[in-house]
Amino acid sequence: MTYDNNNIFAKILRNEIPCKKIYEDEFVLSFYDINPQKKIHALVIPKGKYKDLDDFANNASNDEIVGLIKGINIVAKKLNISVDTGKGYRALANISQHGGQEVPHLHFHLFGGESIGKMVQ
Ligand code: AMP
Repeated sequence: MTYDNNNIFAKILRNEIPCKKIYEDEFVLSFYDINPQKKIHALVIPKGKYKDLDDFANNASNDEIVGLIKGINIVAKKLNISVDTGKGYRALANISQHGGQEVPHLHFHLFGGESIGKMVQ
């Protein structure tokens, strides 16, 4: 399956629909999830057109891969949930059909601000 240019996160990246932005740099955009599942629920997405983590691992440049991982850490620090605060958070990527992915643009969910509980419920 090719990348769907009309997915909702592609539209957010093109500024066609708004988001509650947390952070942006050359490699990533981060914004709040529209339907938060925890006190803090942020999303971090790469700017490149990647459907999921496998697509990203196979096709992204090393700079893009580093940029995404660093971006997650920067956002956690901005949200005051990073390990150095003594709190922590869960970073989670749903990958394709069996992974429960709904939006076909790679994204990491960051859950925090409270205890996140069991890994899979
Ligand atoms: P997933 O099931 O991993 O694909 O997660 C997709 C996430 O995108 C869900 O948590 C949705 O609440 C979230 N979402 C969908 N549309 C928007 C939007 N316009 N702005 C922010 N988050 C969104």
